[in-house]
Amino acid sequence: MSDAPAAPHRDFIRELIDADVAAQRNEGWVITRFPPEPNGYLHIGHAKSICLNFGLALEHAPKSRCHLRFDDTNPTKEEVEYVESIQTDVQWLGFSWGKHLHYASDYFETLYGYAQQLISKGLAYVDEQSPEEMRANRGSLTAPGIPSPCRERSAAENQALFAEMRAGKFKEGACVLRAKIDMASPNMNLRDPVLYRILHAHHHRTGDAWCIYPMYDFAHPLSDALEQITHSLCTLEFEHHRPLYEWLIEHVDGLPGHPYQREFARLNLTYTVLSKRKLLELVKDGLVTGWDDPRMPTISGIRRRGYTPAAVRQFCETVGLTKFPSLTELALLEHCVREDLNRVANRVYVVLRPIKVVLTNYPEGQVEFIELTNNPENLEAGKRSVPLSRELYIEADDFREEAAADFFRLVPGGEVRLKYAFCIICQEVVKDAAGQVVELHCTYDEATRHGAKPVGRPKVKGTIHWVSAAQAADVEVRLYDKLFTEPQPEEAAGEGGDFRQFVNPASMEVLTAKAEPSVQHALPGALYQFERVGYFCADTKESKPGAPILNRTVALKDSFAKGK
Ligand code: ATP
Ligand code: MG
Repeated sequence: MSDAPAAPHRDFIRELIDADVAAQRNEGWVITRFPPEPNGYLHIGHAKSICLNFGLALEHAPKSRCHLRFDDTNPTKEEVEYVESIQTDVQWLGFSWGKHLHYASDYFETLYGYAQQLISKGLAYVDEQSPEEMRANRGSLTAPGIPSPCRERSAAENQALFAEMRAGKFKEGACVLRAKIDMASPNMNLRDPVLYRILHAHHHRTGDAWCIYPMYDFAHPLSDALEQITHSLCTLEFEHHRPLYEWLIEHVDGLPGHPYQREFARLNLTYTVLSKRKLLELVKDGLVTGWDDPRMPTISGIRRRGYTPAAVRQFCETVGLTKFPSLTELALLEHCVREDLNRVANRVYVVLRPIKVVLTNYPEGQVEFIELTNNPENLEAGKRSVPLSRELYIEADDFREEAAADFFRLVPGGEVRLKYAFCIICQEVVKDAAGQVVELHCTYDEATRHGAKPVGRPKVKGTIHWVSAAQAADVEVRLYDKLFTEPQPEEAAGEGGDFRQFVNPASMEVLTAKAEPSVQHALPGALYQFERVGYFCADTKESKPGAPILNRTVALKDSFAKGK
């Protein structure tokens, strides 16, 4: 990757790993993994985990690597579509797993062997209690659990039953394999957790080979060990699972690696939800057009919206790692997006809500071309010629019929500068029968080109953008806004409430705008700054050169920087 953040902040995870490297733990190797369950599309929260895990591998090269491993142990919720989208997203963020694309399902046979091993050691048993009985006998935070009547079965009997489970002799729910740890542990995860359950379900990779599937808590640490992961980094909700993780690493013999787990706080972002399950609800209910709707916080959504990988990496770097839950402002993410787009997006002139201006003293039929810099932040982006003629469009809200002390743009009789052209004076406001302004008749002053001040008239305070009418391209513009009206939709809905009630009904507005000719040929994915308006991106799915559709990535105004 060419432009990874150069010097990541120090944080408790990095300090821990540095200490391990200094102590030559694992001979100084740092091997991490990003372990998604392929049950949905990745979101911006996952980007934090991806940047951490893959970032650490880059920082510790050459004695390092990061694996992409699909934790595909739940066949009923997983799909190939998700597996593919996750790979696309990780690569888009700029990371590579090299040869290390793995699936927990590749280890099913090995994991089965480990389970047999635990049974032989008297550390696992087949439990035939009903799911209700198991729940009832689990105890509570104040009461210890009640041991299952099956708990003291012999290893031989357990082996036979486990083999029958695998052979499909039982219905779903008839029995499970449990670890034999401690029914009185204050940590509920150690009260004989389930290791295997019966699921007569087709798996997207193993087909119908299995009807028992390992639980995440069993498969995850052992998959880490099999891949010789050194540091298994996950979010705080797994903290209480850590003792089980360690118990398995300790009690299964012959593991090729001895990873340990550490937890960091997940990313929470205002005006959105970061949970695949909830995002799936939005998709299923048709509240968005799909996982890659540009309003979605999914990686595929923000990619379509025009967010850049560099901006997302910078955001993750800025947010940093902590041990405590926190809420990050969406404005910070947008700030990072703007900073990057300011560097890379070419400037163009687009008028979103046009009103026509006729320059009555400009020769009819004449067209001149004004040479403009594509990107003042990057002169290598070159220049383009923008036509200018007698009839133009300006933004309707750059004109007001009533003058006001704080309004410096066009008013009747007033003067304004057309950016990179000259100053114009509004001589006449033309209205239709209904009293709507349809046209402004203006005169231009040749002497005010190249920034020259008007002579004998007051100083011109306002500068506005414009598009020449005859050559203007009609382009579809989709103005996106926050997906939710509440900063914390889940909290606002409360326990048992429905976060979907806070979906912002005004989160998308579609306009036909007037653009300078170059925009007509926008390639899908092209990034622009519409001068004075905002950052936009040609939609990668529906936009075509000749019929462009432009998504608003982010408005120009940066409330975050101002608030700092
Ligand atoms: P979700 O709740 O959205 O379904 P998940 O945690 O179930 O997310 P996984 O596929 O299991 O999703 O996640 C893969 C990795 O991404 C895990 O290590 C998880 O800790 C991490 N992750 C998930 N959500 C976030 C988040 N909001 N911030 C940081 N890391 C996250
Ligand atoms: Mg999960």
